Amino acid sequence: MINITVWGEGRHEKTNEVVKSIYPDGMHTVIAKGLEEDADFKVTTAFLDQDDEHGLSEELLANTDVLTWWGHCAHGDVKDEIVARVHKRVLEGMGLIVLHSGHYSKIFKKLMGTSCSLTWREAGEKERLWVCNPAHPITQGIDKYFEIPHTEMYGEPFGVPAADEQIFISWFEGGEVFRSGLTYYRGNGKVFYFRPGHETYPIYFDENVKLVLKNAVKWAKSDYTWNDACPNVPIDQAPEPITRQGEGLHLDGDDGFK
Ligand code: ZN
Repeated sequence: MINITVWGEGRHEKTNEVVKSIYPDGMHTVIAKGLEEDADFKVTTAFLDQDDEHGLSEELLANTDVLTWWGHCAHGDVKDEIVARVHKRVLEGMGLIVLHSGHYSKIFKKLMGTSCSLTWREAGEKERLWVCNPAHPITQGIDKYFEIPHTEMYGEPFGVPAADEQIFISWFEGGEVFRSGLTYYRGNGKVFYFRPGHETYPIYFDENVKLVLKNAVKWAKSDYTWNDACPNVPIDQAPEPITRQGEGLHLDGDDGFK
C-alpha cells in the first residue's frame, strides 16, 4: 500500500467559472480519483485553505509516501514553515510530484535552487509529449508519444538545474518545445516535475496523464528513510585506530580551537 497525499491550491475552482465547471469539487479531487483507480494506493487530499497548516500536518506528512503538488495563483500564501516541513520530508525520502504551474511553487524552487521560470502562452493549442526514456518506470504503458488537444504552452528556456533524468519532451502547435517530464534526486527523496495540468481544460481526466501519475507515484515511493542527524563519531569509535592525531581539536566545553 502506498500512502499518497494530493495537495491542491483550490482557489481557481472557486473564482473562475470555467475551472469550476470542469472541477466542481476541486482539481485535487479529480487527481485523487485518478490515482484511486489503483487498489494499492491510499489517497488523502489536502488544500491551501483547509486549515492553518494548509492541510499538511506533521502527522499527515509523516505518513505520506508520495505528495503531489498543484498550485498557481497563491504560491505566496503557502507558509514558509509548511514549505520547510515538506522540504524536510522530501530529504528524508518522501516522494514529491510537482504538477504544471507548481514550477513556481516555493517547495519546487527551494528544491531546485534556481528561478524555475519558463516561457508561456495561453492559446488553447495542441501539445505532443514525446517519451524520451521508454525503459523508465514512469513511461510504462505510454506509446511513443501522447497528445493533449488543447492546453497552455510552456516553452524553453526552463530555469531548472539539469535533470537527473529527462522523461518527456513536449512539442506545441505553435512550434515551441519544453522539458515536460524531469526527475531529480534530493537527499533520499525522488522528485518528478510533470507539466500537464492547465486548469481551464479537463487534463486530469486524460487516461495518459492519469497513467503517468500512477507510474510516477510508484517510482517516487522510497522504501527507506534517512533521518539526517549529522552524527559525531568519537575517536575511540573510529573504524580504525588514529595514531597520528593533530593538535587542532575542539576541547570539551571549549568553543575555540586549541
Ligand atoms: Zn496553466
